Amino acid sequence: MAEFDLIARIQARAARRDDVVLGIGDDAALLRVPPGRLLAVATDTLNAGVHFPEDTLPDAIGWKALAVNLSDLAAMGATPAWCTLALSLPEGDALWIERFLDGFLALATEHDVALVGGDTTRGPLSVCVTVHGFVDEGRALVRDGAREGDDVWISGTLGDAAAALSQWRAGGACEPSLRQRLDRPTPRLALGRALAGIASACIDVSDGLLADAGHLCAASGAGAELQLAALPASPALAALFTDETRHVLQAGGGDDYELCFTVAPAQRDAVLQAAHAAGTSVSRIGRIVGDAGVRAMLADGSAWTPPRHGYEHFR
Ligand code: ADP
Ligand code: MG
Repeated sequence: MAEFDLIARIQARAARRDDVVLGIGDDAALLRVPPGRLLAVATDTLNAGVHFPEDTLPDAIGWKALAVNLSDLAAMGATPAWCTLALSLPEGDALWIERFLDGFLALATEHDVALVGGDTTRGPLSVCVTVHGFVDEGRALVRDGAREGDDVWISGTLGDAAAALSQWRAGGACEPSLRQRLDRPTPRLALGRALAGIASACIDVSDGLLADAGHLCAASGAGAELQLAALPASPALAALFTDETRHVLQAGGGDDYELCFTVAPAQRDAVLQAAHAAGTSVSRIGRIVGDAGVRAMLADGSAWTPPRHGYEHFR
């Protein structure tokens, strides 16, 4: 199938919004930004074999390509509006594109995101999405606002996606609920919005909790002490892995797309109310300290050192 026919299929299925003056079909999209709001823009690329296993189904690739981008807007407390899609495809496979769009557009529809343009080329399978959203000036959740004494919180559960990846790499069957979390992460948009005005800093966890909490701390000029025992785990993760492996998956794994955020202790009730309103669970997992670096603590108060074999295995 030719590039033009693929684009026509995409155009036929793309949803519309009133603020899209001109969508797919011209040289550029024309979009109306609400007066007085800031435009929040984020881009992420997924490459086959690097960002998802080669056997990932096309609808999961579509879902995940948009989800990881929406997760970045969630971490800013922004509301998504539009996206573009740059596709590199090994062949013009109409069925593949339709299944890809099933996943991509299901998530787009859920969050009222219009696909307004993109690019379609031949090459190794790669999906690059750019999302655009809005946030009120002064209300964005940035990385650099954490202060010593703030609590550190995390949404949802950690480690499921890394667990699925480790099962896949070991050549065995993936536990379905874990694989679901690897293939179809949930961007925490409602929570991000609800945390505006409450959280002092926020980041989404894509590269692993310790790494991403480290980025937040470095930006804030602070450090953190996180309690491994407090890290929220799904029933499947808790049932299938030893504590030691679970800690490696949860602290270092990545692909979680949960929000890690900091809040002054006086605001604990406000956090729980925001989480309740957003329909997303949250857990308090540690606190911000003055010394730089992120330390993961065991229940006995000693600092945890990730086991080398574990880290190598999950790299
Ligand atoms: P140009 O050569 O002017 O860049 P293209 O032929 O690449 O135009 O694209 C034609 C139209 O189709 C443009 O509006 C572009 O944004 C849109 N488009 C191309 N590929 C995609 C895609 N994968 N998803 C959404 N829109 C696309
Ligand atoms: Mg083009």
